[in-house]
Parts: sequence; C-alpha cells; structure tokens
Amino acid sequence: MLAQRPTGHRTFSDRPTAPLTTRRYNRCMAHRVTLIPGDGIGPELVEATCRVLDATGIGFEWETVQAGEATIAEYGTPLPDNVIESVRRTKVALKGPITTPVGGGFRSVNVGLRQALGLYANVRPARSMKGLDTRFEDVDLVIVRENTEDLYAGIEHMVGPDAAESIKIITRAASERIARYAFEYAVANGRHKVTAVHKANIMKLSDGLFLESCRTVAGDYDGRIEFEDRIVDNMCMQLVQKPDLYDVLVLPNLYGDIVSDLCAGLVGGLGVAPGANIGPDAAVFEPVHGSAPKYAGLDKANPTALILSAALMLRHLGHPDHAARVEAAVRDVIAEGRSVTYDLGGTAGTSAFTDVIVDRLTAAPAVR
Ligand code: NAD
Repeated sequence: MLAQRPTGHRTFSDRPTAPLTTRRYNRCMAHRVTLIPGDGIGPELVEATCRVLDATGIGFEWETVQAGEATIAEYGTPLPDNVIESVRRTKVALKGPITTPVGGGFRSVNVGLRQALGLYANVRPARSMKGLDTRFEDVDLVIVRENTEDLYAGIEHMVGPDAAESIKIITRAASERIARYAFEYAVANGRHKVTAVHKANIMKLSDGLFLESCRTVAGDYDGRIEFEDRIVDNMCMQLVQKPDLYDVLVLPNLYGDIVSDLCAGLVGGLGVAPGANIGPDAAVFEPVHGSAPKYAGLDKANPTALILSAALMLRHLGHPDHAARVEAAVRDVIAEGRSVTYDLGGTAGTSAFTDVIVDRLTAAPAVR
C-alpha cells in the first residue's frame, strides 16, 4: 500500500515524461513569484534567467526582495523579515546565490531561509548533457538532501580558547520525512532505487538513527522501489567510478551538500547543476553553486544552473511542457557548443549565451 504523504507534501517531477501531481493555473493568470537576486554572480544570472522565462510566454509578477550583506546597513540583518514574508505569501521563489563569510561574520542566509520556511527537501538532479567534456556520458542521478538539521543546525561553541564543538542534530522525524520524500520522488518520477548515504559505522547514534529511519520508510515501498545503503566515503568512490549503479540518493545535510558538488562535477561542473528546496508550504529554486565572487559583474558566469532551476520551478507551478522546452533549448545550445560560457569550453559571456537560448525559444512553436 502507498505510504501516507505528509500534509502539504509535493514531489515535483524533473522529467518531461514523468507523472505529475502539480497544480494547474489558468493560462492568463500571471504567477506571483518572489525573486531574490542574491550577490556575486547572482544578479546577472537572475537577469538572464528572467529573460528566458519571459521567452516562454508565461506571465510572472516578480516580488523582488534583497538579502545578504548589502541589507545589513538598512535592516540590521542579512535576512530581513520581508524576504521570509514574501516567500510565505507567494509560496514560490527564484533565488540567486548569496555569499556567506568564512569563519566569522553572519550566519548563512541560505541556511536561515531554508530553516525559516521549513524547506526540508533539497532536490538536486545531476544529468549528463551532450557536448560537455565529462568522464561519463549517461549520468542521471538525483540527490535528495535533508535541509534543516545535521551540523547545519548552527549549534557550535568554543570550549575554552583552544577547542570548538559543533553539535550534529539528527532526529527520527526529519530523517523519516526526507526518506519518504526520496521514495515518493522515486515513485513520481519512474525511478527504481533509493540509496541512503551515511557514516553509521562511526556515528552510530546520529547517522545510525538516519539509516534506521530510512530502513523503516523503505519498508513501505518494498517490492516497488529498491533500497540499499552506502557509507559516505565508499559512496564518493563509487560515484566517480560507476555512477550508473545509482539512481536517487538520500543524505543528511552535510553529506548531501558535498556529494551534490561531486555529482555536479560528473555532469559538467557547478555551472550546470540546478536545485530546488521544497517544503510543505513553499519552495525556493536555486542553483547548487555559490556566488563565485571573482566572476561577479564580468558577464562571464554560466547561467545554465539557474535557468534549469527555473525549469524545475515551471514544473512545480504546473507547466511541464514549458519546462521541457526550456531544458531542450539549453541542452541544444550546449550540444552545438558554438556559443557557450568559459566553464563549458567556450568564450561566450552570460548574456551572449542567454541570447542564443532566448532566440531558440522564441523561434520554436509556442506551447499551447
Ligand atoms: P562557488 O560555487 O561560488 O564557486 C566555486 C567555483 O565554481 C567558482 O570559482 C567557479 O570556478 C565555479 N562556478 C560556480 N558557479 C559558476 C557558474 N555559474 N558559472 C561558471 N563557473 C561557476 O563556491 P565557493 O567559492 O565555495 O563559494 C562562494 C560563496 O558562495 C561563499 O560565500 C559560499 O558560502 C556561497 N555559497 C552560496 C550558496 C547559495 O547561495 N545557495 C551555495 C554555495 C555557496
């Protein structure tokens, strides 16, 4: 029997052909969406992505709000209340990356936003694209990362002047919730296997509880979705040697972050890796990559990861055909290789690369 979904739970599809359980809107109605440009390369990638979204013909009313270091002077915080309030109101946000100071400074705005909005599932698909110089051609993985606890709970303190302690929080409730999300995602997207990733041989209580929770939930999908587990270090080795053995991975927060960068590397790098943060009441779509400050304002960074994140958002909003068109346009332009950014072996800037994608979308017959 199908396990009960948590209230308000929604598993969106990352594949054009997959069954969908998203809401549909009247075509004439514009979607009100929160736009968080972020900093570093964020604003220019957000601008490029909005041009691509405009070319789909879907109407958007953007509620633009700022977060990050720049808001501290005006609001006294890098995550002003109006940002959270806006996403609570619109229930959907498209977000550029936001810099987090290393060592000292303010707490991560990205983590704060996910925790404040209860965005417990971080979904990061990693799919090969033609035209990219990668070690494997057919990678098709989905990382489902727990987004609210683990070492990201932000509980750490000094123990005297020369020792520091970070507390790793793992709860049964959050672990079962993310495991169920991973299995529901697998069912909704025609996937066949979920692999739980952990270090329960060393952290017998915390990672042990995560693994036990995944096993409990796996029992509800017995005979429908295969389940296995891997120790995280072995998982990394396996992924760089034989990624084709894996399908959907479910991980606690920290391993999920690290392994999703590894998987981004398998399919062409951070410039092409999209992501979604999903909760019962809201969803925030953002790339896996950060603010890459050294490329800020240079019209150099690759907008693909944010454009593909926007395609995930289109599916979430009930526009799977438009999402598929955007993904196809990006894939075609990358496969041709004539106008791609530096990280994909080309010389095109952010805007020139975006121009070609927009041209392709406006030239193709519109989706009715
Ligand atoms: P990063 O992802 O910003 O960049 C690492 C490297 O990846 C870059 O130097 C660049 O070579 C490449 N890269 C990343 N995005 C690219 C793109 N779109 N096009 C082409 N190349 C790209 O990682 P970092 O340097 O470790 O972090 C920089 C800042 O971003 C930090 O403050 C970090 O905390 C923050 N960050 C934010 C988020 C988020 O907003 N969700 C996520 C990760 C990191």
